[in-house]
Amino acid sequence: MSQIVRTRIAPSPTGDPHVGTAYIALFNMCFAKQHNGKFILRIEDTDQARSTLESEKDILDSLRWLGLDWDEGPDVGGEFGPYRQSERKDDYRAYAEQLVEQGDAFYCFRTPEELDVIREERKAAGLNPGIKGDLELSDEDVKARLGNGDAHVIRMKVPDEGTCVISDMLRGTIEIDWSQVDCQILLKSDGMPTYHLANVVDDHLMAITHVIRGEEWINSAPKHQLLYKYFSWTMPELCHMPLLRNPDKSKLSKRKNPTSVNYYERAGFLPETIVNYLGRMGWSMPDEREKFSLSEMIEHFDITRVSLGGPIFDVEKLKWLNGLWIRENLSAEEFVSRTKEWAFNEKALLPLVELVQGRVATFTDILPLAGFMFSGMLNLDQADFEHKKLEVGQVKRVLQFTLWTLEAQRHWGKDTIFADIKSLAKVMELKLGDFMQPIFVAIAGTPDSWSVVESMDKLGPDMTRARLRHAVNVLEGFSKKETKKVEKEYKALSAKLAEKESENN
Ligand code: GLU
Repeated sequence: MSQIVRTRIAPSPTGDPHVGTAYIALFNMCFAKQHNGKFILRIEDTDQARSTLESEKDILDSLRWLGLDWDEGPDVGGEFGPYRQSERKDDYRAYAEQLVEQGDAFYCFRTPEELDVIREERKAAGLNPGIKGDLELSDEDVKARLGNGDAHVIRMKVPDEGTCVISDMLRGTIEIDWSQVDCQILLKSDGMPTYHLANVVDDHLMAITHVIRGEEWINSAPKHQLLYKYFSWTMPELCHMPLLRNPDKSKLSKRKNPTSVNYYERAGFLPETIVNYLGRMGWSMPDEREKFSLSEMIEHFDITRVSLGGPIFDVEKLKWLNGLWIRENLSAEEFVSRTKEWAFNEKALLPLVELVQGRVATFTDILPLAGFMFSGMLNLDQADFEHKKLEVGQVKRVLQFTLWTLEAQRHWGKDTIFADIKSLAKVMELKLGDFMQPIFVAIAGTPDSWSVVESMDKLGPDMTRARLRHAVNVLEGFSKKETKKVEKEYKALSAKLAEKESENN
């Protein structure tokens, strides 16, 4: 390769730092390092409604915790900055307008409702319902409507028929029919670019040579390839990595497994293990050894040895590997310093003082009282969930519905958690005390602890959800048939909740 290899990770800061992001970052980093290239971190925050600085910070912190350091990025700078798309937003319009001038894109004034009608009409006529370039207006009409200040977007043109051939480093050629591809919006009505435009423009301006990303982006590749062609830019090589999967082979999702890097940090895993395990997702060392460090991975890296069968992210396997790392790689001194770093330090302990100090007579009382704040999954059995008032079916519902509600909670904090619980108890017509008891057991292992809402707040969303999920499993979960029923009940409850909320507003 004559060019300098430049790869990138381009997370959208809209949620927790996902292990999938760390996985893709790892492979991008190894590829770049192996070729003496550069690994770049770019924040794709064009979705302003969903992006938060908090999530951005979390993503950066977690990648750094894993040791997946980048050469250029929003925090370290670099000659191709700024590395945050919201800071580049004024530049994208010109690119979209250039394509309009070239005849490769067009202004579209249709409202979402009008487009729905068009889609339905196409469907009825047996055509592909995708939005196509025949919506284009004449130059005069466009001028007049722009003059009126009418809301509009800019869409790229895509061929109506034929096939688009994409070449992928792992998959060879992939063919996708153009009829399946929409005339993608490039510039939204608020003037912000879509992912597709911003991603292509920035990969070009940042001189990215290899785009290594998850396979969920394959369907975007035809649009991207066409954009590179319209702009007469060289397209980076594409490499779509296999998706991480739950042990049941479904796509890794937080409904079944903790997916946030923060969770694994809190649950006492070493960053070395996470990196090692992610390195084994679809890839292996030439000698197939299971335990290896990041630098060993870089030394032996070869992307063509990635296999495409969906790699399984199995927390039990990860735990086993972590045990190996702890036993074999830490000296006694390191073991002490790592445990200090993990939780026995001021930053981690100070927030617990308000809960613990007033409840102990001697220091020996501390661990029995607060041990659950340092645990992973609690050692519980069905008898722990015996309830004076509720039968086991109801107890399971309390836990499951609380879990689902908290999965949707994006503003983690004492007040929001408590409000969720209170409203859920109310629509389930249960007394708050009765409702809370199984939650106490799930989170603290006993109904006699300090405020469980405080515990959940401090344990964080991932550990809280994992413990609630664990509790449902201890009670043997729901059969497939029951799950459908329970989901329906939850939907009805949520509708009731929404109704109550709108009455209150
Ligand atoms: N912003 C996209 C994401 O959230 C980037 C996809 C890509 O790598 O092109 O993953």
